[in-house]
Amino acid sequence: MRTKVVIIGSGPSGLLLGQLLTEGGIDNVIVDRVSKDYILGRVRAGVLEEGTVGLMDRAQAGARMHQEGLPHDGFSLAFDGRDHRIDLRQLTGGKRVMVYGQTELTRDLMEHRERSGAVTIYEAANVQPHDFDGHLPYVTFEKDGTAQRIDCDFIAGCDGFHGISRKSVPEKALKTFEKVYPFGWLGILADVPPVDHELIYANHPRGFALCSMRSTTRSRYYIQCAVSEKIEDWSDTRFWDELRRRLPSHHAEAMVTGPSFEKSIAPLRSFVAEPMRFGRLFLVGDAAHIVPPTGAKGLNLAASDVHYLFEGLREHYQDRSNAGIDAYSARALARVWKAVRFSWWMTTMLHRFPDTGDFDQRIQEAELDYLTHSVAAETALAENYVGLPY
Ligand SMILES: Cc1cc2nc3c(=O)[nH]c(=O)nc-3n(C[C@H](O)[C@H](O)[C@H](O)COP(=O)(O)OP(=O)(O)OC[C@H]3O[C@@H](n4cnc5c(N)ncnc54)[C@H](O)[C@@H]3O)c2cc1C
Repeated sequence: MRTKVVIIGSGPSGLLLGQLLTEGGIDNVIVDRVSKDYILGRVRAGVLEEGTVGLMDRAQAGARMHQEGLPHDGFSLAFDGRDHRIDLRQLTGGKRVMVYGQTELTRDLMEHRERSGAVTIYEAANVQPHDFDGHLPYVTFEKDGTAQRIDCDFIAGCDGFHGISRKSVPEKALKTFEKVYPFGWLGILADVPPVDHELIYANHPRGFALCSMRSTTRSRYYIQCAVSEKIEDWSDTRFWDELRRRLPSHHAEAMVTGPSFEKSIAPLRSFVAEPMRFGRLFLVGDAAHIVPPTGAKGLNLAASDVHYLFEGLREHYQDRSNAGIDAYSARALARVWKAVRFSWWMTTMLHRFPDTGDFDQRIQEAELDYLTHSVAAETALAENYVGLPY
């Protein structure tokens, strides 16, 4: 088989890139090691920047997102028993975010891909990119026990943090940066109405909490926990009690609780691999970088990488220019590092660290106090939260 671009990974970055390429008349094949149902069962991100929303529209896959997604004009910071609303719209000259689950975005992209007739190979074993430092790259894998090979012009490594693409790059060609945070997030999904129509980020002596949602009837709640915590030790009752303790009383009293249908603990980490291009292999999304979810940036960074790579590939095929693909890594990383900084800052400001001393505690309180009394500080937060321009 031959195609122009082989995309390894059928997560949001692979599917979005595939859909943009297909709409742009550039042949591509997606190969993923797991099944479509497995991918659709993963519960992850839920806050989309305007840039991500715009890319979904450009990929002709945004219709259901506009019908069912929830545009949010602001969110609240809760601390010291009170709320402080960050008015995203006012602070950024009209920008907002869209609450729409990653699972739904993925489903929309999969359905559009199926309708367009573009090829996706699920449950491909031992996927391996080859010869991407030369002119004739190819990807091999096994499907139903048969060895397969796809020749191509370019390979897009959209296969997430644990994928094969980054691991295929010689170690000495990569520089990696990593920060592991000494806590995780325990998250639940429950079919109960959200406690507020906007997100609440809570800083509390017992630890961070986040009140988020997927729809007007489905809530996504998180609490900071030790990474050593065991899910089986967290009954729904224990989770709801702990969440309520970390919120101002008016929210705790208004909270509707119910049985959860998903519960998981995620570790928090910042990670960046540089560069993001090796010859004819490009790293995209979580394959190149991870951020803690506090700033809601993971999925949105994957989308901005896709934007830069798609523009580069479009210029290559339509304008016969390599300027875009040559600039891909530098452009993507410039935006990545700003989101890494923002996510680290939000995490540091809102969580309790095990080694927090009195000095660090006062600094955190001063940071929150400054934010709530300075329009300039609020504006910087809002500008980053809605997403820096591409
Ligand atoms: C538990 C969790 C919670 C999160 N919560 C948030 C959040 O609240 N907000 C936020 O913004 N972000 C969040 N994120 C991050 C966000 O989900 C990711 O940034 C986003 O999924 C990145 O998309 P991606 O397509 O780059 O990678 P992925 O979604 O990881 O997709 C990679 C794909 O590649 C496939 N693959 C992997 N290895 C191979 C291989 N060897 N061969 C072939 N295919 C392979 C995988 O099966 C997968 O389908 C969360 C992530 C996790 C793990």
